[in-house]
Amino acid sequence: MKMQDKCSFCGRFRNEVDLLIAGTDGFICDQCATQAFEIVKEEMKSKSTLDLNNIDVKKPMEIKAFLDQYVVGQDEAKKHIAVAVYNHYKRLTQKGQDDDVEIEKSNIIMVGRTGTGKTLLARTIAKMLHVPFTIVDATVLTEAGYVGEDIESILTRLLQAADYDVEAAEKGIVFIDELDKIARKGDNPSITRDVSGEGVQQGLLKLLEGSVVNVPPQGGRKHPEQKMIPVNTKNILFICGGAFDGIERKIALRLNTKVVGFNASQNNAMIDRDNFLQYIAPQDLKAFGLIPEIIGRLPILTYLEPLDRATLRNILTEPKNAIIRQYIKLFELDGIALKFDEEVYEYIVDKAVEFKLGARGLRSICEAIMTDLMYEVPSGTQKSITVTKAYAEKRLSHLNAQQLRA
Ligand code: ADP
Repeated sequence: MKMQDKCSFCGRFRNEVDLLIAGTDGFICDQCATQAFEIVKEEMKSKSTLDLNNIDVKKPMEIKAFLDQYVVGQDEAKKHIAVAVYNHYKRLTQKGQDDDVEIEKSNIIMVGRTGTGKTLLARTIAKMLHVPFTIVDATVLTEAGYVGEDIESILTRLLQAADYDVEAAEKGIVFIDELDKIARKGDNPSITRDVSGEGVQQGLLKLLEGSVVNVPPQGGRKHPEQKMIPVNTKNILFICGGAFDGIERKIALRLNTKVVGFNASQNNAMIDRDNFLQYIAPQDLKAFGLIPEIIGRLPILTYLEPLDRATLRNILTEPKNAIIRQYIKLFELDGIALKFDEEVYEYIVDKAVEFKLGARGLRSICEAIMTDLMYEVPSGTQKSITVTKAYAEKRLSHLNAQQLRA
């Protein structure tokens, strides 16, 4: 008589289990398979934490080369970030603590107009390092007790991004956007109550300095019963960004030059206002309303260039995941060859400049041009499509800047 099949792990027979999976030389039952899966999951989790301890830190030039694949231009910012990230992770992996030189954390602050690639740079760095990454908007932060989000919520998000793996979160990257919005209003440092400004900066300081913060895992104040998770921020890299509108004037003032206005006399040498940012120094941030302690904790200060036509044109097609490449890929998946006439690119850039939409506008303009095609073409029989300038013009003719911004 044939022996009844049984699980090679727990020994239960086929009639005692729901499912018995056959292998070359044995069987496994559903319960053992589930258990094995759990064990593997746990193992992998601790392995991934281990990996984080051995992050393969690329050299600054390699880091910049990686950024170049996704971000057009902005070489100054890329270099600063590459060095800062390299040093940060070198510091993390520093062996032998017996010498007394302690490398300080290199948190970064990037100043540049909106839509020039600050978020993209931070996101790309996180992608390269495979560390948990989160973006927070400084405008929603308030002092504890006020309407808005507590400072700790920043870490809640990082924890969530790390799947609640505290050790991984403690080596993550936080991008704080719109830092300029929590600048002290007015130059008077004696203002005692400034809900959205100095108090928040003080709170933020605690995180930047590196301390153990009790984090509500669900965030917010809606779950007062939740158990706090202590998170050490010592090794979290903070990258801050902001447009700091008007900071050019502070820089110009410091440089003892006047920003040339429309009424400037013809004799005055024209000063390109866009270029003031390259002289940015910590004292300009102070003049803008950041407290010195915060500035001290953001030792890497860099700027982003405004995007000119040539850069906008490159952004359309050059980066690895450029917008146009994405459309071509999408059509390719349907077996359709999508092409664009060269002048369409120029036209898109014209519109982005005309509507003052910057790089952010490129996508909405492309969407407006492509929506009908994306809707109709998959059901048709065409195998190749070329987008012409005439077509693009027709698609955009009834739209205005407001609709594209939406
Ligand atoms: P910021 O954070 O400075 O406001 P983002 O990084 O969010 O700007 O950029 C807005 C959009 O423009 C993103 O979709 C990004 O892909 C694109 N973009 C902006 N600058 C660049 C750049 N230098 N290279 C490639 N894409 C860019």
